[in-house]
Amino acid sequence: MSDKLSPGCGKPAVRGYSILLVSFALILILAVSCGDEKLVQSSRLVFGTSCSISAPADADVESVWKRLAELDDSLGAHNLDSELSRLNGRAGQGWVNVSEDLHRAIELALEMAEASGGAFNPALGNLVELWGIGGENPKVPEQAQIDRALGHSDWKNIELGPDDTVRILDPELKIDLGAIGKGFAADEAARMLAEQGIDSALLNFGGNIMTVGRRPDGKMFRIGIQAPFEQRNSYNQVVRIAGESVVTSGVYERCFTGEDGTLYHHILNPDTGYPALSGLLSVTIIGPESAICDGLSTACFVLGVERGLALLEGFPGYRAIFILEDGSAVPYGISI
Ligand code: AMP
Ligand code: MG
Repeated sequence: MSDKLSPGCGKPAVRGYSILLVSFALILILAVSCGDEKLVQSSRLVFGTSCSISAPADADVESVWKRLAELDDSLGAHNLDSELSRLNGRAGQGWVNVSEDLHRAIELALEMAEASGGAFNPALGNLVELWGIGGENPKVPEQAQIDRALGHSDWKNIELGPDDTVRILDPELKIDLGAIGKGFAADEAARMLAEQGIDSALLNFGGNIMTVGRRPDGKMFRIGIQAPFEQRNSYNQVVRIAGESVVTSGVYERCFTGEDGTLYHHILNPDTGYPALSGLLSVTIIGPESAICDGLSTACFVLGVERGLALLEGFPGYRAIFILEDGSAVPYGISI
């Protein structure tokens, strides 16, 4: 998963973060042992990141990869030819027919926006593009550019119609589903494997972990959450899951260091247009649906501990671990 980490992030941060000596292997989630060599791992580059599927040798993994490529073609924002990019190109032009996948993903994103009071905002496409974090040329935009982009970031201007139609009322608004897409895809992949009768699999989509059943030895999968600022493979916590997902949003995932030493990361505060400063280094969500875990982790990161915990109250079955700036962990619904 280190492919998600940008070596440029390894500098002290200011603007509220008391981060010292940030190594580029800050926090990462690692799947800790499948417990049995019977799971065969295959990896591909999808959603702009390295994805892996560990499943029994007789699983039809190829059909899952095919479906994942299809989802990438539909939901991907990094992909200029994606269905989402084409939809964005038709902003302000009335109702557009989209695939059932894209319709469902936008619906989920809008539900998360509503639930989080807009902390999760699928209308940040312009801002995401401006910052370019995770791309080759990330930069701190001019304030005027940020203000302009913020003026076209109202998710209430995205409307869902019947029969898989969507309209974007603001001609300059761009939808970005980066905060939910990998989780959405992980749910689909897990569902496909389960339909094949597979009862044990581990999916790792750029750090979004999803599992089908238990390990082949009958034990639960163990997923490690790396301790911030400590050596790689030194875990802050290890969680045990079966048939569930573990998703983390963190400052380390995609980021760059500005000329002044400031760490700029990829989770944006929709109110300021700047990377969110909420007193956290990461939020991990554990729960049955990976798309919900994905959405909640981003939302909770923006909201911070107190408001994040209040959001989680509305999502029974979802647990969390917030890692604060000092490296301490605040659990929710899980004992650590
Ligand atoms: P994640 O790693 O799941 O937290 O998602 C972060 C990605 O979602 C970013 O790279 C952006 O593409 C997008 N994004 C950034 N800030 C937000 C936000 N506040 N709400 C929704 N999506 C966001
Ligand atoms: Mg997310």
